[in-house]
Amino acid sequence: ATVLAIETSCDETAVAIVKNRKVLSSIIASQIPVHRQYGGVVPEVASRQHVETINQAIAQAFEEAGTDWAEIEGIAATCAPGLVGALLVGLSAAKTLAILQNKPFVGVHHLEGHIYASYLSAPDLEPPFLCLLVSGGHTSLIYVKDCGMYEKLGETRDDAAGEAFDKVARLLQLGYPGGPAIDKLAREGNPNAFPLPEGKVSLPSGGYHPYDSSFSGLKTAVLRLVQKLEQEGVQPLPVNDIAASFQDTVARSLTRRAIACALDRNINTIAVGGGVAANSGLRKHLQAAAETHNLRVIFPSLKFCTDNAAMIGCAAAEHLDRGHTSPLTLGVRSRLAITDVMQLY
Ligand code: ATP
Ligand code: FE
Ligand code: MG
Repeated sequence: ATVLAIETSCDETAVAIVKNRKVLSSIIASQIPVHRQYGGVVPEVASRQHVETINQAIAQAFEEAGTDWAEIEGIAATCAPGLVGALLVGLSAAKTLAILQNKPFVGVHHLEGHIYASYLSAPDLEPPFLCLLVSGGHTSLIYVKDCGMYEKLGETRDDAAGEAFDKVARLLQLGYPGGPAIDKLAREGNPNAFPLPEGKVSLPSGGYHPYDSSFSGLKTAVLRLVQKLEQEGVQPLPVNDIAASFQDTVARSLTRRAIACALDRNINTIAVGGGVAANSGLRKHLQAAAETHNLRVIFPSLKFCTDNAAMIGCAAAEHLDRGHTSPLTLGVRSRLAITDVMQLY
């Protein structure tokens, strides 16, 4: 199906037109410069920015795609999870357009968007597959049985991977968002310069959880390292080496868990999604490990790792093709488990 999709769950006002797994247009109006002065996303400011930008983004999406309303078969918007006020802007716009144009409306779970971003780079991909979802708010291993049918096999017990990148970047004074900044510095650094602890989740029965992760200890270890270097009068701080060591530890941790999970469950394909899927260290480690174990690994193209509306349109098209549409009474939800997405249809 050809879908107009809107994504406003956080700090990107995004609109796309997608024909099944093909992107006809993808507009992303980032609010990052607006929020940077506060060091993070301010919800009230985000909502206001979405309101100011959305109409123009929709017009641009049509212009770039060279399509008109006659070709649109469904209108989609992210409805959960995310900032309530921000979600409401995109959802209201989509529902209004669905009424005016008399087209089906599809509410989309933001994480389903991240999962299906891989379809845009690998249109032949079909479930079942394993998704390593690594974003600013989530770090999970999700078994994708079919569209709308998910099983969570692993997750972080504290910080999300992207959150860890952002927090470490803040303590290294690299600004917001931190992931891309660390990735860039890490390319110039030695990943073996500082041994850092890979967070592990203990099991009551002894040993460690094979798929769950923990990043708050690693973040504290980086803080201690910085304090120690400062006390020793090391100047300037070897930020390249610190960034490289941190990134390598996260990448190895995620790779180990994803590979173990795929092998244990006999799943031969791993699709990665979320902003951290853009990370060069993760891409390198996971690609190499997958080759060793004869697994297929798929990464979205860089522009579809972080928030965008093309991935939302792709997820919506999958649902529409299965006859899943949402009622116009659908509201936004700040939280909704990925295992409960069929509540939206
Ligand atoms: P969620 O999807 O969980 O609701 P979100 O939408 O805020 O959270 P995304 O847009 O998927 O998250 O990703 C943003 C996160 O990805 C940020 O934490 C950012 O630092 C991180 N990120 C982006 N690029 C990179 C990179 N190259 N390396 C590491 N992290 C990155
Ligand atoms: Fe996201
Ligand atoms: Mg974002």
